[in-house]
Amino acid sequence: MERWREANREHIREYERKYRQDHKEHYSTWRKNRYQGHKEEEKEYQRKYQQEHKEQCSITHKEYMVKCYREMRVKIFAKLGNKCSNPNCLVPNGCRDIRCLQIDHVHGNGRKEGRKFGVNTIKYYERVLADTEGNYQILCANCNWIKKIENHENSKYR
Ligand SMILES: [Zn+2]
Repeated sequence: MERWREANREHIREYERKYRQDHKEHYSTWRKNRYQGHKEEEKEYQRKYQQEHKEQCSITHKEYMVKCYREMRVKIFAKLGNKCSNPNCLVPNGCRDIRCLQIDHVHGNGRKEGRKFGVNTIKYYERVLADTEGNYQILCANCNWIKKIENHENSKYR
């Protein structure tokens, strides 16, 4: 067989060339279809990838950080009792509205500490979560503000 092909190589090549010419139409549609099919496949792959990695694809870094802050705040609030620690809170039994609750340094050096850690809130939150000495508490916005004024923590009221 091989020997036959060898002997008739020129002949076979000529035959194939002629065959392709005669079936030109068929060949071009076949190639086009193949490309189209591939294109669809690729689109389908991309669509699937995006669906499977929806979170990574749609969430920007900023959104991710916000999500991170929120989750840490929830953990901190749970650790510190989920309500205003001031026994004289204006809200009976202590304010529990998460929108009004703030993390406060018991000894009033939150501002100093804030400066020490820059604006790296995540680091600050990590410190609050790791604290075992009771240095932090939750106060509602009212109580926190009143405490700041009474302790002269806010320079405006000094
Ligand atoms: Zn309060």
